[in-house]
Amino acid sequence: MNLRIPGPTPCPDTVLKAMSKQMINHRGREFKGMLEKTCHRLQTFFQTRNDVFILTCSGTGGMETAIVNTLSPGDHVLATTNGAFGDRFAEIAEAFGTKVQRLQFEWGKAVEPEAVQEAIHANPAIKAVLMTHNETSTGITNDIKAIADVARKAGKLTIVDAISSLGSLDLQTDNWGIDVVITGSQKGFMSPPGLAMISLSPAAWEANKQAKLPRYNWDIAKYKSFIALWETPWTPAVTGVYALNAAMDLMEKEGIQNIFARHARVAKVAREGVLSLGLELFGDLKYCSNVITAVKGSDSLDPKKLLIILEDEYDTVLAGGQKKLDGKIFRIGHLGHVNEKDMQEVIKVLKLALPKAGFNRSRQ
Ligand SMILES: *Cc1c(COP(=O)(O)O)cnc(C)c1O
Repeated sequence: MNLRIPGPTPCPDTVLKAMSKQMINHRGREFKGMLEKTCHRLQTFFQTRNDVFILTCSGTGGMETAIVNTLSPGDHVLATTNGAFGDRFAEIAEAFGTKVQRLQFEWGKAVEPEAVQEAIHANPAIKAVLMTHNETSTGITNDIKAIADVARKAGKLTIVDAISSLGSLDLQTDNWGIDVVITGSQKGFMSPPGLAMISLSPAAWEANKQAKLPRYNWDIAKYKSFIALWETPWTPAVTGVYALNAAMDLMEKEGIQNIFARHARVAKVAREGVLSLGLELFGDLKYCSNVITAVKGSDSLDPKKLLIILEDEYDTVLAGGQKKLDGKIFRIGHLGHVNEKDMQEVIKVLKLALPKAGFNRSRQ
């Protein structure tokens, strides 16, 4: 099957093989050695010298971890959002009783650093700014460097959801002054779902000392005390750690800059291919993502119908739209284990499936 959704992404064979290994003692020497190595390897992809922690949960658990460990009830938080995942981050912060101010942008547009700056100046009580690096629901990559710069210069904590971008798109945690970065195992890291990874800057650790939101499973200070022994506080998904290492073997061999360049090339094949078929891209072209391409439906094209034909007749699985884009767009995932040929294959089957779905080039 050609699985081209924005996570879970296909796992390379060596990753699948690594997962068939027997269990080991998660507090024994072998696992300690493995955890130490894994956390150090992750620093390369986070582009940070901060400790990186591995949590057993999907990406959303990592987002919750970021919130509960840095904030207190009633803290003012600026949540930037231009899609479903930005909204999710705001909802998590609201669920825990912080005062969330949403800075919303139209879906398909990028978050504007100038607007973030204005919002910060208008409310000096804001403590943290939540950001989404790659808004997977709309196929837009936000300019995190510029947004984080504005927030950092105003002395705010910068918290970035990099779940669909880290390891595929350039995100310079230390150079760009990002305090908390969250990612997951099942997207750019070519591993199965089940792990979230998170880094915290010295400023984030300072915030952690004051943070009063309730937490237990996600208490990052517990993780910090256990990592001194190269352990996790609770039993980790051992198999996921095997997988992540096998994936990082491949990623290190390719090199981080080459990975970014490959994603850019594959995205170009996706975008140009889609346009050549007479389809329209969704969203602001200036910020279109190199890990996912969102494509508009039209009067003659029902994206849901197209996705079923692609799956049933061409063994190709693409993603639909989320929330208010449900039924309006479809999305091609091109992150992790993917090359130009894989994307050419997607375009080829799209060309065959489109007429069957009723798409008429002249009747958009
Ligand atoms: C996939 C994704 C998430 C959440 O992922 P889960 O692993 O399903 O919890 C959050 N944010 C973004 C931007 C994502 O792409």
